[in-house]
Amino acid sequence: MIIKMSDDSGANNEVNVPDETSKDEIENEVEEWIRGGEWGDGKHICSAEYETDNGFSGNVTIEVGEDDDPPDCAEGQEHSWESPQWLGGCTENPGVWSIEGNRILSKEVCSICGIYKNYQSEDQNGREPNKTWYEDADEYSIEWTNKLKKDIP
Ligand SMILES: [Zn+2]
Repeated sequence: MIIKMSDDSGANNEVNVPDETSKDEIENEVEEWIRGGEWGDGKHICSAEYETDNGFSGNVTIEVGEDDDPPDCAEGQEHSWESPQWLGGCTENPGVWSIEGNRILSKEVCSICGIYKNYQSEDQNGREPNKTWYEDADEYSIEWTNKLKKDIP
């Protein structure tokens, strides 16, 4: 049978496999193809749709690459990740957003140096595939860390 696959960047591929190939083996072929792509640095969540000429179809979503290491905190300090209300997101759950489908994005901010940590997962329970990346401090987070420093007696 022929497996036709296309990923979320629009790339296509076709693979010829024996007719008795199982659904798991088909999905392994798709996964292998995704992993062989050029994804650059960092971790990416990649999806591909597939269909076969004998009626199987589905979707494979996997992680490719590794998360970046977190940047250093302020001299001699460890990051202290928090989710203050000003980050936005749900009222009950500051810093958490639902994005397309079951994807969630959560954001935390270090109360010492002000950098942001983003965490994206493919389902509401935070299971794999998921990825974490970091963003530089900005005026809001710097203002917040300065205010916290003043509050410490
Ligand atoms: Zn920090």
